[in-house]
Amino acid sequence: MTTYDNQTLSGIDHLLELNARHSRGFSSEAARGERRLYRVRHPLEIIAYKCMDGRLNLSFITKTALGIIQPMRNVGGRFRLGWPMMREVVGNHYEYSLRKGRACLVIATYHFARGDDHRGCAGFNKDTAAARAFASGLKRQHVDVFGQGAAFYSILIGIETDLDALVLHGDREEDVVDLSTVTATSTEDLEAMLRKLYPGMSNDMIRDFLPLVAGNIEHIAEVRAAHRPVANVVHREWVLAFGRGFDWFHEPNTAIIVGPFDPDLRSPIATAAGILLRNLEEKRASLERGVVLVSSAPFHERAGYDRAAACEKARWQDEYALQVITEEVPGLLPHLHRLVSVMDADTRALEVLERT
Ligand SMILES: [Zn+2]
Repeated sequence: MTTYDNQTLSGIDHLLELNARHSRGFSSEAARGERRLYRVRHPLEIIAYKCMDGRLNLSFITKTALGIIQPMRNVGGRFRLGWPMMREVVGNHYEYSLRKGRACLVIATYHFARGDDHRGCAGFNKDTAAARAFASGLKRQHVDVFGQGAAFYSILIGIETDLDALVLHGDREEDVVDLSTVTATSTEDLEAMLRKLYPGMSNDMIRDFLPLVAGNIEHIAEVRAAHRPVANVVHREWVLAFGRGFDWFHEPNTAIIVGPFDPDLRSPIATAAGILLRNLEEKRASLERGVVLVSSAPFHERAGYDRAAACEKARWQDEYALQVITEEVPGLLPHLHRLVSVMDADTRALEVLERT
């Protein structure tokens, strides 16, 4: 994990260096080969709805390679299938999966901290029951629309941030397993546990979901062994990342990520900006470094209009976020740097359009 002791780099330079490092790793032949092999062995498509909270990093805490889990981020993990575009986003992903002969797993999440309610979800005023109820409702919407079977399955997971532990909620409300309490680690035992939690899940899906579960159990053991101080699990973010294509951001507690899905984008951006300003005021983030607003849009093809459209999107996102911050959290402006970028989906490399 990187630390931020290097005072000679500006926040933006630091981010670009981080991206360059991850991009080199992601696009190396070794990583490409590994991903392809993983995809052949575990073809399951995974979509995860998550809060924008910077402490939540599902790939990191399940030891899953980048590019396997498709993250969807908003304040509190709040999404509704009825929102404009959501039907297309999920429906298109589902159709794509079917064309590739793959199944689709949707994970609706909420988060909390076992040690202290105050470290819970700011998007739900630290009310864990409300956050869980909302995520459960989101899962229900997916079950109602896409069904629950071999091609599409939806589950509810709690993310406990003190230990980075997943809490698996089964199909029946009373079946709950906190992975920090699981001592069995053999494939057979874990498979039996998942089968009990998700009686309708296909064997293929259980086989592909299992590495995430095993990875999280391993990660929890490492967190325990490291005796991570509580100071590292309160908010320390200094980046507001707005848009899509941030999975290279593999560093926990650095960025608050806001996806472009909420029809009311003003509130998630204002909430994120408020958290960042408090981080500065309460000295959990460096005043000297300040805060970086990163706007990013991914593109898949350099030829044609794809990249140009991504540039337009990134510029609009930057202008919109700046306008919201100016109107809602003006105290952040003196500390704000901006990075407008597009991301090459093939390499995860950022291209800088503008920086201030
Ligand atoms: Zn949250």
